[in-house]
Amino acid sequence: MAVTLTHHFADELPELALERPAAEAPAPRLLALNQPLAAELGLDAAWLRTDEGVRFLVGNAVPVGARPVAQAYAGHQFGGYSPRLGDGRALLLGEVTDAEGRLRDVHLKGSGRTPFARGGDGLAAVGPMLREYVVSEAMHALGIPTTRALAVVATGRTVQRDTPLPGAVLTRVASSHLRVGTFQYVRALDDPDLLQRLVDHAIARHHPHAADAERPALALFEAVVAAQADLVARWMLVGFVHGVMNTDNMTISGETIDYGPCAFLEAFDPATVFSSIDSGGRYAYANQPLAAEWNLARLGETLLPLVHDDEAKAVEVVTTALEGFRPRYAAAWDAGWRAKLGLPDVPEAQDVVDGALTLLQTEHPDLTSFVVALADGTARDHVVDREAFDAWHARWQALGPDVATMRRTNPVRVPRNHLVQEALDAADDGDLAHLAPLLQAVTSPYGDLPGAERYAEPSPDGADAFVTYCGT
Ligand code: AMP
Ligand code: MG
Repeated sequence: MAVTLTHHFADELPELALERPAAEAPAPRLLALNQPLAAELGLDAAWLRTDEGVRFLVGNAVPVGARPVAQAYAGHQFGGYSPRLGDGRALLLGEVTDAEGRLRDVHLKGSGRTPFARGGDGLAAVGPMLREYVVSEAMHALGIPTTRALAVVATGRTVQRDTPLPGAVLTRVASSHLRVGTFQYVRALDDPDLLQRLVDHAIARHHPHAADAERPALALFEAVVAAQADLVARWMLVGFVHGVMNTDNMTISGETIDYGPCAFLEAFDPATVFSSIDSGGRYAYANQPLAAEWNLARLGETLLPLVHDDEAKAVEVVTTALEGFRPRYAAAWDAGWRAKLGLPDVPEAQDVVDGALTLLQTEHPDLTSFVVALADGTARDHVVDREAFDAWHARWQALGPDVATMRRTNPVRVPRNHLVQEALDAADDGDLAHLAPLLQAVTSPYGDLPGAERYAEPSPDGADAFVTYCGT
């Protein structure tokens, strides 16, 4: 076997790791393999395509001594607390050390029931796993921190949803799978030694500078606040709607995780919700920074015992750290919008950014193509109120916008809902023909890509009707 796995998580935090083999895939068939990522991880792509390699990718052929584990975590789901969630249909196979010497989790999604499965079948269907592959790799190409997709393997097992669907396993790679919910689970156990070990493990893996701070747990918290403020600003700038920002779906690393009912905005509308189960709009586009801040408050609560012996004092310093979220987010958002509009960092730029946002909110153009058209000089065609546009445009032009910066910043191709859906629907019927061109388009998001013009166009039907479903 050409792979060496380590088990730092399971060794250092055994209370959070339930050893469990992956379910046997009756007829595994490789649907997608990420060769550049395999190379980054030091894995031989040619071997991964062999029978043994494919069996490795679904967890059925593991290196001698490997110990796959289901990870325990808790979480607030749509604001309601569940003390015991955990990997119901996933396993951490182990960690590999990548070409840069960093630990990366190799994780399986759809690998069978675990003791955390509750009523679930432990399985995943081809469509949603390919969807995570496409969207997470698009996010990576956009420079947005994210878990990655190494492979999708069809298992040969049928999964019963509303209709019978082909089953699949996603082989996911992450800098770790530590979540806000991991800390909530540990805090509820009231075991100070375990909490300290979790903090030490998180610091070593993600924010090593925090180890030298006067209060390492507080420094860890500050680092997560900063990473999440930057992350959510990056989402917002490209119109990404995560859809299910529960505390179990928010990482300590600052990587985007768990692509379920996610989608990209087309017509710009702050209230946009795609998820069928988010009827209250809790995780609407414009609410995402607030949801992140709320989740971070939950993380902060778990760390109080390690921050200060005096609880009131601990609450005070953690609250102060949390207050760093808003200015950090605002700075990332403002700088991001200046770059999108090619503007220099001068006081007048703020007014022009605000004007652009007002225009977006009143005109609802397709976010992605509007800013691309702005650099191309054709944005006027995207609005109805030409007078308002012209007035704003003159103020924008007066600041000497740098078109090269705009072209480097604004993606031409994002995973548009109707094109992703088209590729996944075909895949359900065994037709993978749409997958490669879609992946090629969204993993080269910037500049012209001959032959990929349709991937730069909004849905002909408008995006309003698009709905995504959880429980995938
Ligand atoms: P998610 O909404 O994907 O973040 O998952 C929330 C929780 O439900 C996690 O504990 C998952 O492991 C669990 N879960 C989701 N789908 C299934 C399934 N088909 N079988 C077992 N557990 C599941
Ligand atoms: Mg999840």
